[in-house]
Amino acid sequence: MENEGTYRSKLLYERALKSIAGGVVSRARGLPGGYKPYPIYIERAKGSRLYDVDGNEYIDYLLACGPAFVSHARQEIVNFVKDEIEKGTSYGLPYELEIKVAEKVIKNVPCVEKVGFGNSGSEVAQMVLRLARAYTGKDKVIKFEGHYHGWIDNVNVSTFPSLKDAGPELKPHSVLPCLGIPENVAENLIILPWNNIEIVEDTINKHKGEMAAIITEPYMGNGGIIPPEEGYLEALRELTEKNGIVLIFDEIITGFRLALGGAQEFFNIKPDLWTTAKALGGGFPIAMYGGKVEIMDLITQQKVAHAGTFNANRVGIAAAYATLNFLEKGNGKVYKHIHSIGNKLIAGMRDIIRRFDAEAIIQGVGPMFQIYFTKLKKIRNYREVCTANPDTFHEFRNCLLKRGIFIRPRNLSQFYVSASHTQEDVDKTLSAMEASFKEMKRKDMV
Ligand code: PLP
Repeated sequence: MENEGTYRSKLLYERALKSIAGGVVSRARGLPGGYKPYPIYIERAKGSRLYDVDGNEYIDYLLACGPAFVSHARQEIVNFVKDEIEKGTSYGLPYELEIKVAEKVIKNVPCVEKVGFGNSGSEVAQMVLRLARAYTGKDKVIKFEGHYHGWIDNVNVSTFPSLKDAGPELKPHSVLPCLGIPENVAENLIILPWNNIEIVEDTINKHKGEMAAIITEPYMGNGGIIPPEEGYLEALRELTEKNGIVLIFDEIITGFRLALGGAQEFFNIKPDLWTTAKALGGGFPIAMYGGKVEIMDLITQQKVAHAGTFNANRVGIAAAYATLNFLEKGNGKVYKHIHSIGNKLIAGMRDIIRRFDAEAIIQGVGPMFQIYFTKLKKIRNYREVCTANPDTFHEFRNCLLKRGIFIRPRNLSQFYVSASHTQEDVDKTLSAMEASFKEMKRKDMV
């Protein structure tokens, strides 16, 4: 959205295009994600608010694409990190605080018996795939269409394929996202539609003895907000157990967000391996993986290698320790607040949709949800997300933006709610949505 109120952002973007390849430093911040004709440049962020370089204030539902779950710059976390990093930020040697974080994670996340550390979700996704392949001695992995497990070659297949390239719905083609990725990276990935257990079962039977793992988000948060169908995760668990296949939950988004123990606590299902990042670091970079001791001990036995100069650096570890302390407080109090605020938003937005008789649905749970402009009553997988109207979504997003509400301009993403969103934020957001729908109605867009 171009307007005079974001003029300085426009200038900065024009300047950035001359020195930064693509103008922005992650695809998610760029034009393919819909920040047309330029993204907003941020001056600072605090609590549930973003402040841009032109002096505009926004109620933020992007939350840094997930990490600001505890809020932006939560003072107790910032203070703890500041104190800790006075001791040095990274040693190339171990220290006690990394053990304390590992112990807290093992205490809270049901499937985790041992852990490892990284700095980004993409890295730890590599590590769990390596562990699963080493453990089973097999290579093939089932990955679902529309699921994103990072930008690295061997999983970045059929993440957000165009429908033109995606092939038959029940037998999707493997689609590479860009140039520069060798065709053969897709050879060991079998791409399937999500939320269809019969297809998973048929595929396992067809590839008997060849499968290392199934990797899935337990609740889709990237590629739209999509819950698992009732019984789907249980059936995946049963099938993988029966066939000696490692079940991996990618909880980069859902970890420490849906509950302290993540989606596996929320749904009461234990995978074999797990990854997380985003919410864990309270806005600082840290990622973790973990799972069953018999798989993780392949690292102890030096059968599987993992390395990384900045693994468990003191910045990320201090942030994770302080974030976990905050999340553990009051026996679920933080989660009650976030679910309650999110649920109020969901209920209020549904009410507005009903009153305007709009063709739209809201899907999700308190901490993460999404609006889809679609005729469907429910969205179950990536192909169904593609039926939602992206132009109406963009118009909605731009209408919200000029009223001080920031959401990511992409219907394949979500509204994220943090510990510092308040009832006042809910009220302001719902009035902005009502006014946006009025404006869109005049243009015949809802
Ligand atoms: N897995 C999921 C589900 C994600 O949402 C993401 C990032 O958005 C990743 C993996 C990759 O994480 P990162 O961006 O930290 O590399």
